[in-house]
Amino acid sequence: MRTERWPRIILHADMDAFFASVEQHDRPELKGTPVIVGGTGRRGVVSAASYEARAFGVHSAMPTHEARRRCPQATFLSPRLGRYQEISSQVLAVFDDYSPLVEPLSVDEAFLDMTGAEGIFGPPRDMGRLLRVDVARATDGLTVSVGVASTKFVAKVASDHHKPDGLTVVAADQVHDFLWPLDIKRLWGVGPHTAGRLEKLGLRTIGDVARTAPGLLTEHLGDTGAHLRRLSLGEDDREVVGERQAKSVGAEYTLERDIRGAATVKKHLRRAADRVAPRLRRQGVVATGLRVKIKTAAFRLVTRQMTLPRPTDDARPLFEAACVLLDEFDLNVPMRLVGLAAFGLGPAGAPVQAELFGDPDRQKNSRLERTIDELRDRFGTSAVKRGSELD
Ligand SMILES: [Mg+2]
Repeated sequence: MRTERWPRIILHADMDAFFASVEQHDRPELKGTPVIVGGTGRRGVVSAASYEARAFGVHSAMPTHEARRRCPQATFLSPRLGRYQEISSQVLAVFDDYSPLVEPLSVDEAFLDMTGAEGIFGPPRDMGRLLRVDVARATDGLTVSVGVASTKFVAKVASDHHKPDGLTVVAADQVHDFLWPLDIKRLWGVGPHTAGRLEKLGLRTIGDVARTAPGLLTEHLGDTGAHLRRLSLGEDDREVVGERQAKSVGAEYTLERDIRGAATVKKHLRRAADRVAPRLRRQGVVATGLRVKIKTAAFRLVTRQMTLPRPTDDARPLFEAACVLLDEFDLNVPMRLVGLAAFGLGPAGAPVQAELFGDPDRQKNSRLERTIDELRDRFGTSAVKRGSELD
């Protein structure tokens, strides 16, 4: 048996026919029958259809009158959003027990980053299994389908693979076998229009896209072509963005060529700090923490963070903190991405100002930063460069 590879562990959890399932739960006599939730007016559309109704070709976004034609025996109900929200919170509470990094996509689906949690939950398959049991328990029997993979894209496709009530686990070294037989419409971002263009090139499956010369895809679809090719190979760097983490301001650089060594990394971090600080000031906030993120050429993502000596919206202390954190990284391996993010944001208020007055140097520095902002706003980012940015 081969060993599974898991650079990251990402779960995508998606409640099955959520609104309709809640209605069937609250009115048990509807269990096993077609239930359609949606607008009942003349221009109403279907929000959710139970699997019994889907068997008649009813699906969400279909006009309700069409749903009535296809499945006249269904029970038609108006949405009770408050009730769905209530259950959604119960489900999210379960997710929060599993990971500090939960990114809800809607009322009934979310990504969870479970990287490093094997010690608590066991291997990836067990994580998915336990999560499904706990969601059912918390909601008195509602089912959730879960996909487990090393990227958001594959996890999302996987959760849909054995819906409803399914669990699909795809390790990194199984991604091609899993994705390639699937229809191109399963690629994230491929709607009917792009699908038509891909089909004109003779491409029907994700594997077809993966095996096509990159030049041909870019020629016909531009950046989208390059993006779809990456997805078809299972490459997707996007991180799960938890709500707490979303309250940060960051900048990062994916490098065209791998780099090595502290000096080069610092140059990119300086550049990132120079981008982040003006954004903090524009939002009128100061950061209390700083995170540095580096991805090695072998796709290992390492992050380190610290509390700043004092809240700030200036580039220099952000950069200085980043340099402190660099000590914790091995900078002698090839790296492909460097970035930093300021987090723990709060309003730029009086206490910080008071401290600035007590420190003439910082005050001057801060005024300089603001002047640079103004110049950049007026003349563009490249108008003002610091000595450190000049090669
Ligand atoms: Mg759903």
